[in-house]
Amino acid sequence: MKITANNPNRKSWLQVDRDSDFPIQNIPFGVFLTKEDVVTIGTRIGDYAIDLAALQQLGYFEGIPLTDDIFMQDSLNDFITDGQTTWRLVRNRIAAIFDLENKKLKEHKKHRNIAIFKIDEIEMLLPVEIGDYTDFYSSKDHATNVGTMFRDPENALLPNWLHIPVGYHGRASSIVVSGTKVRRPLGQTMPQGATQPVFGPSKLLDFEVEMGFITAEANELGKAIDISEAKDHIFGMVLLNDWSARDIQKWEYVPLGPFLAKNFASTISPWIVTLDALEPFKAAGPEQDPQPLPYLIEHGEQSYDIQIETSIKPRKKKETLVSTTNFKNLYWSISQQLAHQSVNGCNVRSGDLYGSGTISGKEKSSYGSMLELTWKGTEPIKMSDGTERKFIQDGDTVIMRAHCKNDAIRIGFGECIGRIKKARKYPKE
Ligand code: CA
Repeated sequence: MKITANNPNRKSWLQVDRDSDFPIQNIPFGVFLTKEDVVTIGTRIGDYAIDLAALQQLGYFEGIPLTDDIFMQDSLNDFITDGQTTWRLVRNRIAAIFDLENKKLKEHKKHRNIAIFKIDEIEMLLPVEIGDYTDFYSSKDHATNVGTMFRDPENALLPNWLHIPVGYHGRASSIVVSGTKVRRPLGQTMPQGATQPVFGPSKLLDFEVEMGFITAEANELGKAIDISEAKDHIFGMVLLNDWSARDIQKWEYVPLGPFLAKNFASTISPWIVTLDALEPFKAAGPEQDPQPLPYLIEHGEQSYDIQIETSIKPRKKKETLVSTTNFKNLYWSISQQLAHQSVNGCNVRSGDLYGSGTISGKEKSSYGSMLELTWKGTEPIKMSDGTERKFIQDGDTVIMRAHCKNDAIRIGFGECIGRIKKARKYPKE
């Protein structure tokens, strides 16, 4: 099926600013609460949120096989389960409804009032009910930096890293939508030089710049997803801040890997940008040497050119840009990650979230965590208000933004924002 929604020449009758992340070629999917307290599935064009349940009730999706309540849901899971053909039909139809030349909704004031809201009139909610969350570790520069800091600069990458998209199963229950405040975690740490662990607020709170992809139901338990078909089962992508408490992590991670240092919160951006919308921005990832095992071999351009910027905004102060990186820095692709995740027969379900792992590039300015940017706190970052940061302080807001751009269009992800609240009082509130 032709993805007519991607036509770069199409203009919308809705106002879209030139530097908007959401031109009519984007058509992401999300879930929001209207000012009448109704939860609905929607999309966004410019600074307008569009209620897809209302459009369906008004007959605008006629001819597309959809169940009556597919958009009257508090998550996208059922819609994602319907599969790629349905996603494409719906995106193509939305593009047609809002095409500059289409007068049907444009000139129907009553319908417009029912289905279109200004973006500041609605509240974005978590777009999917996330059953399972996997977090990979797929940036070679990040893995090398961390290995250099914590183990041995001579053997920074462990022997498996160039053969396996290394990952672990994370926690789905604490994944929150952008804008949700995050409380500094309490936990157990072993201070430098101490002989007994102590309990208290994490002192080394960090962000991790990641992108996440969200899957459709893909394989039965016991069967694998072939790498050549992996992308057919990926609905789209979001920005992901995988908050990390480095002092807790350092003490707890041996031998089973990250645990409480990671599962207190992970923040995602609210609009899922479809892989279809990202199609014009496919790009080559790094060359893979040694060649991966056959089940991980893929052909063609498998990454995406997505620029990601991260800022820190101290309370009541201006933000400072601290990291500019790119998704195409990742060594392992999303197809390789999904093929690997399922190769043993592990089943992939609708609404699962897969984190890329921290995305660092070669340059210091492209590192994707404070751990790397300040080299374990030894090289603090200067903020525009004159203060310094080694890690994230109470009251700081971490803002991630991402977009793709070519000569014709810009497709973006909006913002992934989280502000740190001070830790809970110990031992009691
Ligand atoms: Ca991570």
